[in-house]
Amino acid sequence: MNLILLGPPGAGKGTQAVLLSGALKIPHISTGDIFRSNIKQQTELGKKVSDILASGGLVPDDLTCEIVKDRLQQDDCRNGFIMDGFPRTLPQAEMFEEMLKARNQKIDTVINITVDDDVIVKRMSGRRMCSCGKVYHITGNPPKQEGICDACGSALYIRDDDREETVLRRLKTYHDQTSPLIDFYSKRGLIIEVDGDKDIESTFRDIMAALGRQPDGV
Ligand code: ADP
Ligand code: ADP
Ligand code: ZN
Repeated sequence: MNLILLGPPGAGKGTQAVLLSGALKIPHISTGDIFRSNIKQQTELGKKVSDILASGGLVPDDLTCEIVKDRLQQDDCRNGFIMDGFPRTLPQAEMFEEMLKARNQKIDTVINITVDDDVIVKRMSGRRMCSCGKVYHITGNPPKQEGICDACGSALYIRDDDREETVLRRLKTYHDQTSPLIDFYSKRGLIIEVDGDKDIESTFRDIMAALGRQPDGV
């Protein structure tokens, strides 16, 4: 199954992607995670994108699409993928369609997770990340041991771009450049709307139900 998770920053895309990846046994691909891990490892790509992420703007479309194309070539994508944070602009969505067409593939479903801006600002200020891809919240979804990932034992970190002024800039970027994708995918009949302002498990159940799947163990 080829899925896209769409929604504003902080909607819960990463959180839901980890759960969906476990349930559907397809990889979670987050362009944001790929950029952050390159910045951490100070690769050439990392050096190119570090200031862009810090400012709350978007990495150029060509560069972003190149990275996704490479990632899709890995073996674990043969049964599908969950895209989290990509595409984020109309040109990216168009290039992604071409990329999939060349592979004889298509998008099955786009899950649009909706959350109001005021809720988002609150969520981001408490977000804690792990380099393994798991996401926590200091009050809403804390790890068992403060500052440590339940899944892999690594130390959690706070994202540079989760400061309030950068969050506001990212929200503006979302409204200007990413929200037109809702219309783009609606026209193709691919959109499922899910209320992201419920608790994590309820949102996950809603998504699974919309996909016609039975979540087990949640
Ligand atoms: P969030 O989970 O808060 O929506 P992400 O982790 O997806 O944020 O992205 C973090 C940052 O990485 C973005 O603010 C942007 O600078 C960059 N980025 C991630 N995905 C893309 C993309 N598809 N196109 C351009 N820039 C991106
Ligand atoms: P995105 O990938 O869309 O930016 P995340 O999955 O990183 O969003 O979630 C942003 C923050 O909100 C994290 O701290 C996460 O633990 C928290 N969060 C995610 N889903 C929910 C939810 N349904 N209710 C409350 N907090 C949530
Ligand atoms: Zn971890």
